[in-house]
Amino acid sequence: PTENSGDDLDDHINVVLRVRPANGQERDRKDQLVTKFHGEGRVEVDHVSVNRSFVYNVVFEPEALQEDVFDHSGVKKLIDMSINGYACTAFAFGQTGSGKTHTMTGPPQQFEGGNHPESDMQGVIQRSFRYLVQQLGQVTGNKTIKASYLEIYNEQVIDLLNTNHRRYLNVRWSKNKGFYVENLFIVECETVDDLMAVLEEGMRNRQTGSHGLNEFSSRSHSMLTLTVDTEQVDPDDENLYLTKRGKLTFVDLAGSEKVKDSGSSAEMLIESNNINRSLLVLGNCISSLGDPKKRQGHIPYRDSKLTKLLADSLGGNGVTLMIACVTPSAYHVHETTNTLRYASRAK
Ligand code: ADP
Ligand code: MG
Repeated sequence: PTENSGDDLDDHINVVLRVRPANGQERDRKDQLVTKFHGEGRVEVDHVSVNRSFVYNVVFEPEALQEDVFDHSGVKKLIDMSINGYACTAFAFGQTGSGKTHTMTGPPQQFEGGNHPESDMQGVIQRSFRYLVQQLGQVTGNKTIKASYLEIYNEQVIDLLNTNHRRYLNVRWSKNKGFYVENLFIVECETVDDLMAVLEEGMRNRQTGSHGLNEFSSRSHSMLTLTVDTEQVDPDDENLYLTKRGKLTFVDLAGSEKVKDSGSSAEMLIESNNINRSLLVLGNCISSLGDPKKRQGHIPYRDSKLTKLLADSLGGNGVTLMIACVTPSAYHVHETTNTLRYASRAK
């Protein structure tokens, strides 16, 4: 049976899928490859334990290049919308080892050695920096980019750009700003290099923070946010400038492997601990938002730090892109199916 026809995907939340290539271990083990591709966004999981097919906006097969993912996932549209004043988020979801970080930032080797040539392996984030700066070049009025980079671990917010005092920051709400992180370090950026420096600094602190503990990095969410302020000529009156504030957020989510897919959201919350609360609540918010009836009602943003900070992108006039990541191997067929189902809840 096919679930989640691409047609009923909500415009506010789009979902693409990336299946990474089998890695050395999976090839050595001669793992059966369980993902089958049928074109037009259709993917099938074909295994003795499960046979299901799903449809997404786009499916990237293992051969897809970093460039293909950037060009065809809809990220460019998000960036254009952020310049026009919308709150936009792209996040990577999937089990640990499925390719989230690879997709968002590329392999870590790029960040070693202190120089950073434009590499084919650069991820969505670096490519977005270039595209954003290029597009802003067309804006004639003033423009400013402000960047922040944080991590949510165990429902605590850590600033990745200011680790002098490794203390936890509070998430607050104000009428003007909505949810925001108090005392978060914010860096004004003009060039692609400025933005790259922010990314590198945060990645470095993320790695130091993890101290080689796989546990930590696979259970934390990292969030890089760009606030884009522009003055643009009013299309109705060329003597008038409109000021616009958009937001562009990139999230590399914690590994989804602990997510329990049980019935009601109340049950899910009781079962969960802080470590994956954000992921559970995100799933609940997304499935409520995807339902036209529920979209108008109560959305449980307040139940986690992650969803508070993403509230403006998830709801209202915001736009969200989920990049679901899975492996092709039979070894992970259970987690793969969970990821595909979670991604389908966004319909
Ligand atoms: P995650 O962040 O989801 O835990 P990673 O992005 O770290 O997973 O990927 C796990 C490993 O697989 C890394 O060594 C990564 O470089 C590799 N990898 C992931 N996706 C791809 C891909 N599309 N092509 C080649 N290697 C990949
Ligand atoms: Mg990762």
